[in-house]
Amino acid sequence: MVATGRETDAWVVERPGPMATHPLRLVHKGVPDPGPGELLVEVDVCGVCRTDLHLAEGDLAPRAHGRTPGHEAVGRVVAAGPDPSDMPDALDPSDAWGAPRPGIGDRVGVAWLAGTCGVCRYCRAGRENLCPESRYTGWDRDGGFARYLLADARYVYPLPPDARDDAELAPLLCAGIIGYRALERADLPPGGRLGLYGFGASAHLTAQLALARGATVHVLTRAEEARRLALELGAASAGHAYDAPPEPLDAAILFAPVGDLVPVALAALDRGGTLAVAGIHLSDIPSLNYADHLFQERTLRSVTANTREDGRAYLAEVSGLPLRVHTVRYAFADADRALADLAGDRVTGVAVLDLRQ
Ligand SMILES: [Zn+2]
Ligand SMILES: [Zn+2]
Repeated sequence: MVATGRETDAWVVERPGPMATHPLRLVHKGVPDPGPGELLVEVDVCGVCRTDLHLAEGDLAPRAHGRTPGHEAVGRVVAAGPDPSDMPDALDPSDAWGAPRPGIGDRVGVAWLAGTCGVCRYCRAGRENLCPESRYTGWDRDGGFARYLLADARYVYPLPPDARDDAELAPLLCAGIIGYRALERADLPPGGRLGLYGFGASAHLTAQLALARGATVHVLTRAEEARRLALELGAASAGHAYDAPPEPLDAAILFAPVGDLVPVALAALDRGGTLAVAGIHLSDIPSLNYADHLFQERTLRSVTANTREDGRAYLAEVSGLPLRVHTVRYAFADADRALADLAGDRVTGVAVLDLRQ
């Protein structure tokens, strides 16, 4: 349903393909009305994630034509639909929030996980990130590359009014939360040695989280500017992606979507170490050699999205940390240029769209 008279600009994926073919288009469309359990959020800033690039370029098959990407949206609630718990057919089993739902005027974050079924074996076991019915912002629902978006109130993160700047908060919603989950999945022991392969948005936040927890962090990435940033942030070393780190690793996270790096990172692990692959998309993994890559109880794990509990735990853990969020800001009208820069490795840190410009 569309409210009459209110219109807004939104970027949509018109024809997925390489950024050089301009897959995105800026369109004018009506501001939607929130349905039961939904919030209408006026977006102030939205981070640009590599997953948005995968959606624009078609690495992830579109789930609807003309979908608006963007799943690191920070804004304010401007309208709320009816509370579904007041409705006769209320079904609200996936609501894990103990806190009151965000209300009108509240500052909120809209992240990647947009909905789950709430009743499957994964949802009931607290593993809603594995729900086969899970839905995602910017893929199944329109996202934050638009001034207004609708979100299921149960999947929206309340944000403190006095916390850090909106543009520095936005990247925490995906780059930060996914990095948090990847770090959990990598089983880094206290004070352990962590290797980060690739050093984009998520890795630079994860490095700071790991350092705050007392880890020694080694960064392995191809871009010289990213290596410099890693050292500035406190990494013990920063080498090329295919280099061996200066010491064996207890844990490693592969952020670069490059399957060729899987055996490289596995070989860098100490006995009993774990490699977690953080990305949603990875190029093919070359064949592994059992003795070199897996024996001595080395473990290879994937990371699939996140639970709301991950999001809450991460936002709580970093609320007291002096995180340095290295943002590169773009005007809303330049969303396609932001994605092209990400595709061309020209973004150091996190690209963020300012919808107020
Ligand atoms: Zn489920
Ligand atoms: Zn993302």
